Amino acid sequence: KAKGLGKNQYCVYTDEMGIKEVRKMELEKDLQHALEQNQFYMVYQPKWNVKTDKLCGFEALIRWNHPRLGIVLPGEFIPIAEETGLIIPMTTWVLEEACRQCKSWGTKGFTQPISVNLSARLFETDQLAELILNVLGKTCLEPNLLELEITESMFFNDINDIIRQLEIIRNMGVRISMDDFGTGYSSIGLLDRIPIDALKLDRLFTVDIDHPSKRAIVHAIILMAEKLHLDVIAESVEQQDHIDKLNELGCYVVQGFFYGKPMRDEKISQYMKEVLQFA
Ligand code: C2E
Ligand code: MG
Ligand code: MG
Ligand code: MG
Repeated sequence: KAKGLGKNQYCVYTDEMGIKEVRKMELEKDLQHALEQNQFYMVYQPKWNVKTDKLCGFEALIRWNHPRLGIVLPGEFIPIAEETGLIIPMTTWVLEEACRQCKSWGTKGFTQPISVNLSARLFETDQLAELILNVLGKTCLEPNLLELEITESMFFNDINDIIRQLEIIRNMGVRISMDDFGTGYSSIGLLDRIPIDALKLDRLFTVDIDHPSKRAIVHAIILMAEKLHLDVIAESVEQQDHIDKLNELGCYVVQGFFYGKPMRDEKISQYMKEVLQFA
């Protein structure tokens, strides 16, 4: 019986592998045309300041509406876009969309920054600063309303070159934050050299905030950030209890399903109407 079961499991396993591989091949092929066929769209997730009880920004997150497979999440297609180099035109599009959106919110009275995620590959072109400058010019967005999210893993190679490019961008007035902080190749020793304005605590810290050891690490990160004049924002905040515990440790800016899921622009306008009434 065990033998039969083993055989069955083997079959199921190879079938699943097949499905995954076929899907990846389909995504790889179709991703090349996704941009020109307008299959990408942006969603925006609110950032909330618990102390002032006010909306304090949005993060722009990309979605792919695949004609056959439906909505595909970035975790699945960003690695493919990075491999194929498509990440560069894609990010150019994302930056323009996000900046245009933020500019239009500004005209409605909401002037808070929008953040955009960057991939390491953008720094390889050595034209990132120029790209940012062009996008800001084209959309007429004030530079201090744009924030770029980078990750620790970008500093694996070529630290000095990335720091040089970031300095140029930050000198334009654009904010930089370190995303998923605490999970990558630890960059603690570099935090006083990398030009950043904020740390985004990885979701693992929020999810495990009940564990005393994780809480100790979060507390230490917050104290360190204060000394380095860095803001701290926690991601993936889903429950009141997460917020209370983060507040106890001194973190007051949060992002997560508790205050709002990532939403399309129509929904965001509705959300902002409701929220700005209280503001
Ligand atoms: P990230 O920058 O760390 O973004 C946060 C992710 O957490 C988002 O997933 C968001 O939907 C999800 N999230 C937010 N609040 C909660 C919560 O309360 N609970 C849970 N369980 N999840 C929450 P998403 O949109 O699937 O994006 C995944 C990652 O893909 C992002 O992680 C970012 O690294 C990358 N990404 C997204 N958009 C872009 C883009 O335009 N360019 C690049 N290069 N990367 C992007
Ligand atoms: Mg991010
Ligand atoms: Mg993050
Ligand atoms: Mg994350």
